[in-house]
Amino acid sequence: MGAFGYFKHNVEKAATLLGLTEEDRTKLMTPDRVLKAELTIPLDAGGTATFPAYRVQFNNARGPYKGGIRFHPDADEDEVSALAAMMAIKCAVVGIPFGGAKGGVAVDPKKLSRTEIHELSRAYVRAFAEHLGPDVDVPAPDVYTNPEIMAVMLDEYEKIVGHAAPAMITGKPLDKGGSLGRDTATADGAIFVLNALLADQHKDASKLTAAVQGAGNAGAQAAHLLSEMGVSVKAMADSGGTLTCATYVDVEKTLAIKESKGSLKSIYCEGSVCDAEKMTAEGASYSDAEAVLRAPVDILVPAALEEQIRIDNVNDVKADIVLEIANGPVTPEADDILAKRMVAVVPDVLANAGGVTVSYFEWLQNKAGEQWTRADVRERLADTMQDAYRDVADFALTKGVTLRDAAYALAVSRILEK
Ligand code: GLU
Repeated sequence: MGAFGYFKHNVEKAATLLGLTEEDRTKLMTPDRVLKAELTIPLDAGGTATFPAYRVQFNNARGPYKGGIRFHPDADEDEVSALAAMMAIKCAVVGIPFGGAKGGVAVDPKKLSRTEIHELSRAYVRAFAEHLGPDVDVPAPDVYTNPEIMAVMLDEYEKIVGHAAPAMITGKPLDKGGSLGRDTATADGAIFVLNALLADQHKDASKLTAAVQGAGNAGAQAAHLLSEMGVSVKAMADSGGTLTCATYVDVEKTLAIKESKGSLKSIYCEGSVCDAEKMTAEGASYSDAEAVLRAPVDILVPAALEEQIRIDNVNDVKADIVLEIANGPVTPEADDILAKRMVAVVPDVLANAGGVTVSYFEWLQNKAGEQWTRADVRERLADTMQDAYRDVADFALTKGVTLRDAAYALAVSRILEK
């Protein structure tokens, strides 16, 4: 059904739950503006290359458009629109005064040099500058974009408008007006929500096991926080494969090796040669990337890509909590099956909303010329995520629906109220 199809499916369910009119449904599913451009940049080797670029401004009923920009070969109008729509929902779920937007460039950034990526970032801002601005549309990092790219984009924007405007973009480096705590915000937010859910379920973290798919920024930080709170992490996966341990994965050691050598596998293997003796002694095994989804654990954390849990593998999922740190990791068909099995799926629009929440804090700090402490940011994030979880969980309980349906229904009603 495609990414935008998933969004429509979720909004339809919310609309039915709330008894919305056809007009409201259409309004919720139609982007305000789809901006497109072809970005041409000079290449280091001479010549130029051109890449399709998008900025979709979905809805600004609750405040300026807000959402990241991804550099990914699969970025297209359908995907960027779906992600923009989800941003509107996400901001409404956590109650921050932003609407939803998303940007994308269809490019494989791994094939570009740093200079070329900077050129691309500047070209993006030049193409869309008249539609951006602190009170209009505020971008941020997303897949394969980072604080350095945000700084370059800000620089280009300030050149165009001729004055400082740090609040036009978030996720900046600290010395360019970034916020402390933005780097760990997505995982921090997810773990605050998980803790609130565990408290509701009267579960003790130290008796639980988890598996984490994805060892990027959010996945690595989530694994770290899970082990810190006493959850035993039994499996971790990156795009190359799954590392499983009979006892528990030494998260810190594994992440340090991933950081220096580039893959989780390097903890036991040099290229294709693995130290079988050490693996046996430590009860470790190494298998395919999807094995992490089948791990016999209590909590499964998909923190990588979309469409990981589908109709063909959902029955292999053993966890009874799924914490969606990635956007859209469970397809609607798989979601229905998990719901029937009473698996608690914490939806992406709640679980990963910590990132945009701290982006909002960054925007507030820029506007006020302030710099909050890490502890202050963390405390405000905890409050926001716990309140959002409470609202969603109470709605789900009262109406007898899933956390996803409750989150969408609450968000939709907040968007329409304005
Ligand atoms: N790209 C992140 C997301 O999908 C953050 C967006 C933002 O901070 O505006 O939520």
